[in-house]
Amino acid sequence: MGATDECRAEPGVYVPVIDHAKCEGKKDCTRVCPYDVFEVTRISEQDFAALSIFAKLKSVAHRRQTAYAVRADQCRACGQCVKACPEKAIKLRALTRAG
Ligand code: SF4
Repeated sequence: MGATDECRAEPGVYVPVIDHAKCEGKKDCTRVCPYDVFEVTRISEQDFAALSIFAKLKSVAHRRQTAYAVRADQCRACGQCVKACPEKAIKLRALTRAG
């Protein structure tokens, strides 16, 4: 997909942050992002270890699938992923640049 009128920022100003305790790997973010920022894959061992017991059980129930912002540097802060996520697992965070 290409750029949309809703794109609000240059790349590298905001990044999507995914709450792996909430994400159920439903892939809505991969479908709506115009810049192909997300991939849904198996949660890393490190991220899985950081989950609460309840979130671990939920993760296993969803085959340990979760979203990662593998191309976060391409994010234009359009907000479509935030709106589309049924688990409200995505927030946009402003990057602060040194210098
Ligand atoms: S806000 Fe979400 S949908 Fe929009 S460009 Fe960034 S990652 Fe993609």
